[in-house]
Amino acid sequence: MLSIIVPVLNEHESLPQLLAEIVRSGERHGIGYEVIFVDDGSRDGSWDVICQLAEQNEKVSGIRLRRNFGKAAALTAGMRAAKGDLVLMMDADLQDDPAEIPNFLSKLDEGFDVVNGWKVRRLDPWHKVFPSRVFNWMISRLTGLKLHDHNCGLKLFRAEVAREITIYGELHRFIPVLAHAKGFRITEIAVHHRERQFGHSKYGVRRFLRGFLDLLTVKFLTGFGQRPQHMLGAIGLTFLGVGFLGLGYLAVLWLLMNVPPLWGGAPLIAVSPIGPRPLLAYSVAATLLGGQSLSLGLLAELIVSNTVREQATFSIAERTGRRDK
Ligand code: UDP
Ligand code: MG
Repeated sequence: MLSIIVPVLNEHESLPQLLAEIVRSGERHGIGYEVIFVDDGSRDGSWDVICQLAEQNEKVSGIRLRRNFGKAAALTAGMRAAKGDLVLMMDADLQDDPAEIPNFLSKLDEGFDVVNGWKVRRLDPWHKVFPSRVFNWMISRLTGLKLHDHNCGLKLFRAEVAREITIYGELHRFIPVLAHAKGFRITEIAVHHRERQFGHSKYGVRRFLRGFLDLLTVKFLTGFGQRPQHMLGAIGLTFLGVGFLGLGYLAVLWLLMNVPPLWGGAPLIAVSPIGPRPLLAYSVAATLLGGQSLSLGLLAELIVSNTVREQATFSIAERTGRRDK
């Protein structure tokens, strides 16, 4: 069975038409499905619409969050309630086309765990499309998962994926990346994208700054999340090394300048005083930074060693043998 999860923030005009399209797509292709609308703190009566739809159609259920917690939280609430072994997420604003659902299912059958949509011809204003291109390119470069449209609202994945990745804050943009880091197989297919008919977009230009900061977080979490000292410690040691080199060089100069040679006479070389040299300031700063980074890494290791017990750091693909579960 397929669980369709739809996060909803002030989309009451779109919901009836969206459900009608999902029903049409489901009927035409004989798919068993449920639809879970998650109302993420709407204030436009979306919840009443969801209640009506749930009354008319037994496949529909609704969850209302107490306030607006963000798309990632809404999706998580939906995924926890999902009963299917496949999960499809789609936006509520009719920009994603439910007629694409069968294509996603057959692509997944080719042996993938996540099928990500790719809005090839995107019908959004340019100030959204262009930064998004850059953003997708950056994510692909930094994480090694090459997709054209990481943040596409339309995605299909197996229930294991939903169980094993944790999204919070605005990390819904990184569902494929997080799944990829767990070893799931990811692919993408082109989807038909439509213009927003009702309401307005819930994300402004700030999304790109936040998205970039989240990219750093995700890169760190997936790369060094279990071994932070390997990154912070490496930075720390580099800085310490640079600092010690600088200080050492200045120390040698100081000795040559102040200490007369064993055989007596004037100091070997005449150099300008050490105190006002820029190199001194840089070296001291580097030493301090290095020490800080190193101890920050130790603190991070302490946190990791206390939390790994609670969450799995690996992901099991299959089991064999007769051992009972
Ligand atoms: N959404 C949500 N909570 C939020 C913001 C958005 O549930 O805090 C939903 C919204 O109702 C829509 C989907 O997430 O169904 C995508 O939002 P939107 O269409 O505004 O994003 P865009 O298409 O502009 O990227
Ligand atoms: Mg939209």
